[in-house]
Amino acid sequence: MVEIRGLHKEFGHLHVLRGIDLDVPQGSVCVILGPSGSGKSTVLRCINELEDITAGRVRVDGELMGYREGTRGGKPALFRLGSRDIARQRARIGMVFQRFNLFPHMTARQNVMEAQIRVLRRSKAEAGARADELLRRVGLSDRAEHYPAQLSGGQQQRVAIARALAMDPELMLFDEPTSALDPELVGEVLAVMRDLARSGMTMVVVTHELGFAREVADQVVFMADGVVVERGTPAGVLENPQETRTRDFLASVL
Ligand code: ATP
Ligand code: MG
Repeated sequence: MVEIRGLHKEFGHLHVLRGIDLDVPQGSVCVILGPSGSGKSTVLRCINELEDITAGRVRVDGELMGYREGTRGGKPALFRLGSRDIARQRARIGMVFQRFNLFPHMTARQNVMEAQIRVLRRSKAEAGARADELLRRVGLSDRAEHYPAQLSGGQQQRVAIARALAMDPELMLFDEPTSALDPELVGEVLAVMRDLARSGMTMVVVTHELGFAREVADQVVFMADGVVVERGTPAGVLENPQETRTRDFLASVL
């Protein structure tokens, strides 16, 4: 489903990603761990075309993201896609951030309906029915008419997940979805993510919740300084890390 080859990203002279390869098969969950500044968010942002790529290829479901392959002067070359194609590709991917960034002037239900109407051109009735179904799925049927300010952080984050799912994404990206939450609210968000994984959603999750990684991930990837240092099963990477940097990191988050 996700196939990344030789991904490099530079911000000016800051070389943030230095050759990332990553495969996330359809229906599987990949958890990315790593110290602050290692490039985890940048990887997600490159998958979702929120960043231009310096070098390499990102494919989602076989389709090259952000570029079209062609030739220039007889040689293979890449051409940047136009904004409509980028928007079409991006619509296949749901993303949930650390901060819930819901629209503050809209109720939970309106938040989940908005892009369905504006982007997918669904009718109000259809979008509303889908919103109700998704709010039920994340356990918030009784909060549909609440505004974000009237919801806890965990509830807001569950609305954000419902809003992403309303676009019927093929792939969900999560960037530290629980790290801004009070500890007692983390579990309810992870439970929704666990159910989503069990339903067969392909997911890439940046998180330091090792319990979640152990239980839900098919693959754990440890990054540092813009490279993948170690990858494998949760048992392999978390219980029996081979690299010193992985061991030091795990000791620091426990
Ligand atoms: P954290 O755990 O703190 O979220 P991270 O692993 O997600 O860290 P990134 O946000 O991907 O790290 O950032 C990697 C590096 O790239 C950092 O040094 C960061 O300062 C730098 N960086 C990220 N975005 C930009 C930007 N738009 N312009 C310049 N530098 C950036
Ligand atoms: Mg980050």
